[in-house]
Amino acid sequence: MNQFREKVMRFMQGRYGMDDMGRFLMIVILVCMVLSVVFQSGTLNILVVAGIVYEYYRMLSRNIAARYEENQKFLGLKSRLFSKGAPTFQRRAADPVNRVFKCPTCGQKVRVPKGKGKISIHCPKCNSDFVKRS
Ligand SMILES: [Zn+2]
Repeated sequence: MNQFREKVMRFMQGRYGMDDMGRFLMIVILVCMVLSVVFQSGTLNILVVAGIVYEYYRMLSRNIAARYEENQKFLGLKSRLFSKGAPTFQRRAADPVNRVFKCPTCGQKVRVPKGKGKISIHCPKCNSDFVKRS
């Protein structure tokens, strides 16, 4: 295996090679490989072959800019899926009923109903009023 890796390394010079997306893909391929053996599934076998072909296509590609772009997209997707803070934040941002404004005086977040037009918002913390379109 080490010898194989060395050969690959030499072959890979000037090519794009492995990145985060490649490593992730490799794990997916390995999992599919194991599953295809366990379940004797032809469909999974095809997936494994397709995955390997794609993996090699990426690694051997000389279009480094395009691969880099792919990897950036992958990393963005990954951080959105796996970051623990994100779902709560997204749920809050996607609130269809309320809108959250920051008090310009003290920075307190004030929740107001959405779609009411221009309204005067009263800050419960510092008792100041400010006008916003909700
Ligand atoms: Zn305030």
